[in-house]
Amino acid sequence: MERIASFTINHLNLMPGLYVSRRDKKNDCVVTTFDLRITAPNREPVIDMPAMHTIEHLAATYLRNSDRKEDVVYFGPMGCRTGCYLLMFGDLSSEDVYDLVLSMCDFIIGFSGEIPGAKPEQCGNYLEQNLNMAKFYMEKYKKELVENKRFAYPVCSKEPAKPVHKNAGTNFGE
Ligand SMILES: [Zn+2]
Repeated sequence: MERIASFTINHLNLMPGLYVSRRDKKNDCVVTTFDLRITAPNREPVIDMPAMHTIEHLAATYLRNSDRKEDVVYFGPMGCRTGCYLLMFGDLSSEDVYDLVLSMCDFIIGFSGEIPGAKPEQCGNYLEQNLNMAKFYMEKYKKELVENKRFAYPVCSKEPAKPVHKNAGTNFGE
C-alpha cells in the first residue's frame, strides 16, 4: 500500500504549530485540513483523554457558532493525542485560520460553566471531561502560536511529501 503523505512528515523534529497537512479537491470544491499540533510528538506528554474530550466539545461549539461557521467541515482529535484536526472549505493557508484558531483558544481558556453536549443523551462518554486541563493545553498552544507561528511542516529529506492536491480523502496525521 502507498504510504500516505502525513506519514512522510518528520515527527522527530516536529514542534507545536498550525500546519496545513493537505488540500483535497473534487470538482470545484476544495477542503483544507489543518493539523493543530499542540504538543511536540514523542518528546512531550500527550494530551490526556479527558482534556482532549473537553477541547473537542468546546472547540467544535466555538467554531460552529463563529463567523466562519459555514466554512467549518470538521474538528476532532488526533488519535496520537498530540493535537487536533480542523477541516475547512476553501483553498486555505495557515494565515487564513490563524485568528480563528487564536479566538478558539481564548474561548476555551475563558470558558466556565457546563460543557456543551456533555450530557448522557448527547455524548458517548459524558463524564470524561477536564476543563482545567483543557485550559492548560490551550494556553500552552496559544503561547506557541503567538511566539513562534510555526506554519510549515518539516518533511523527511529522503522522502519528500507528495503534492498536497490529491483527490484521495484519507485519515492521517499521526
Ligand atoms: Zn463527547
